Amino acid sequence: MNPRKLIATARALRELGFDEVYITEKKHKEPVKEDKAELLRKLYKQMEEERKCILYEGASGYVFGEGDPNSPVVFIGEAPGEEEDKLKRPFVGRAGQYLNIKLEQVGLKREKVYITNVVKSRPPGNRTPTREEMMTCLPYLRKEIEIIKPKLLVCLGSTAMKGILGKEYPITKYRGQVFPYPYNPSIKVFLTYHPAYVLRNPSADKEFTEDLKKVVQLISQA
Ligand code: URA
Repeated sequence: MNPRKLIATARALRELGFDEVYITEKKHKEPVKEDKAELLRKLYKQMEEERKCILYEGASGYVFGEGDPNSPVVFIGEAPGEEEDKLKRPFVGRAGQYLNIKLEQVGLKREKVYITNVVKSRPPGNRTPTREEMMTCLPYLRKEIEIIKPKLLVCLGSTAMKGILGKEYPITKYRGQVFPYPYNPSIKVFLTYHPAYVLRNPSADKEFTEDLKKVVQLISQA
């Protein structure tokens, strides 16, 4: 209220017999900040209860995504391996340790990004997950992405690419390229090698490093 109006109102109130007038400040209601970590916890609980994502029985259970839920980037792998199954954490085996080193090389800290998988339990003998196995787990991955709302999804290898883009491009041909995420085109999808592939094919390390540098560029763009 402008000061003149305020004085006039106070005078009018005094004439009406009011001795004191208390003015309370109208506070703007703070919008409730969405707690992404809490939403993810609820999603994981729901997934455990529903057990719709198959392969649960043969493995030691589900391995959920981990990292910073407010990260601008989500790295997506295929499925947990033996070590991940034991420790119930994604990318903690050889491929994961290599990924950590590569992330550090480009200035990214593992705990500052979010890392997850398309399939949430270990396929027997570490085989590639079947289409049906992927289909039963994909709704949970999509929900994870919806909660985190990152700028960028990084598909590590062809299973992640198939899960996210629904397409089977040869990863060697399409790596380093950017696509829109079909479920929310404002999110970019970047394709690169799976770290286990790079470990098996050391000549791919140079391209993998280039790709990770591009990831840093993409997330620093407005
Ligand atoms: N490979 C993956 O794709 N995911 C993991 O969590 C570990 C290895």
